[in-house]
Amino acid sequence: MAKRCFQCGNINPKEISNLYGYDVCHSCKSKIGLLKDNTLRKHILSYEKVRETVPENSTYKEEVDYRLNFMEENYIRQRIKLLHIQERLKEIG
Ligand SMILES: [Zn+2]
Repeated sequence: MAKRCFQCGNINPKEISNLYGYDVCHSCKSKIGLLKDNTLRKHILSYEKVRETVPENSTYKEEVDYRLNFMEENYIRQRIKLLHIQERLKEIG
């Protein structure tokens, strides 16, 4: 199956790479705002600094894990809700 950028629909195979299971073209990839390692190191340090005074706070890694999990659960909830609306519209619309 031909690769297709999930966002803009670009199908030029030379411009598409796979990121974590998603096909993305170079142009759309550059607009996602992927963080550089130096920025990540700053985030780690700022979380560690807070943990010096509030040790029970999460580490940066824990926070990222939490956000990914929360986002996935929220995505599924919203998708179920919309699929239900779509199904009901077929019935009553
Ligand atoms: Zn694209």
